[in-house]
Amino acid sequence: VDEFRDPALAKQLLTRIAQRMASPVLQARAPIRIMEVCGGHTHSIFRYGLEALLPQTLELIHGPGCPVCVLPREHVDDCLAIAAQPDVIFTTFGDAMRVPGSRQTLQQARAGGADIRMVYSPLDALQIARENPQRRVVFFGLGFETTMPATALTVQQAVGKQVDNFFLLCHHITIVPTLKALLDDEDVCVDAFIGPGHVSMVIGLEPYGFIAEQYRKPFIISGFEPLDILQSILMLLDQLVEGRAEVGNQYSRVVHEQGNIQAQQAVAEVFELRERSAWRGLGEIDQSGVRLRTRYAALDAEREFALRSTRVDDPAECRCGEVLKGQLQPQQCPLFGSGCTPAQPMGALMVSSEGACAACFQYQRND
Ligand code: SF4
Repeated sequence: VDEFRDPALAKQLLTRIAQRMASPVLQARAPIRIMEVCGGHTHSIFRYGLEALLPQTLELIHGPGCPVCVLPREHVDDCLAIAAQPDVIFTTFGDAMRVPGSRQTLQQARAGGADIRMVYSPLDALQIARENPQRRVVFFGLGFETTMPATALTVQQAVGKQVDNFFLLCHHITIVPTLKALLDDEDVCVDAFIGPGHVSMVIGLEPYGFIAEQYRKPFIISGFEPLDILQSILMLLDQLVEGRAEVGNQYSRVVHEQGNIQAQQAVAEVFELRERSAWRGLGEIDQSGVRLRTRYAALDAEREFALRSTRVDDPAECRCGEVLKGQLQPQQCPLFGSGCTPAQPMGALMVSSEGACAACFQYQRND
């Protein structure tokens, strides 16, 4: 990946970005606020110190694209309630283990004796179910369209192979309705978007069309290396200078216009949209999450364990929502680095390496 981290090319891009920002059009509307949607971009921006290299009149807002960061406390409580059942093996991805529920994390529950296992793929969970036919094995599926297809294929395999002790607790969410909710929020001020790379690899470019057409905001799907991000910023500024608003693709080496049709078909066959889904820090958003279709109801952990989630608010001092909306920088939260650290996170943005607070803590606080 050296070619995407070349300092000389980075300098060229930074010069061109500074030139665009000096144009009368952008000077007149400064500061220019660009939201990077994806947590992977947030991580790269902090890791490579890109913010410090950009003109001060250009602000980066760290958006909601880290699925662990927007996981509500009540869903962690649901996981804990299921994992407490003596016949259950509870499985999930590593990042979910440290997200605080209202009383504890999955990691703490495991230390207390619950059979909670970290897996790298939903297929690992299915294999555990096949090896333990006398136990109920629950996979906690979370993530955007990036991880949805693997969960969908696993559900199809569980049915095809008649593994009747495998269940899915589904917290898969979808990014596009959330972008619309942010655009409709008067408190959120964004001029342009750095679009998610991995999600777009699955869904393609078309679902973002309304952002350019109805809201007149430029949107560039970007890779994750520093030169990718700088080039995407330049492409966005070009549009703003020229008065254009289009969906563009900087990450064409990975993202294709139509996305991954097979993955889309698997997702559509297994999942349907929920009316509303809760996002930590952002509240409830219409049609922003999925659940299993009725034909897969026998695998639905919500039904199997008769879950009745009760909403749990974050502590009043926790400012994750404002950071997610770009109203606050991570260091401006009074808990940052004292009451909330990666070792002992209070808010979800401190849990995952893709969370804005964790990335800021790791790469800026130690400078
Ligand atoms: Fe949330 Fe912690 Fe960040 Fe404050 S420092 S916004 S509590 S994650």
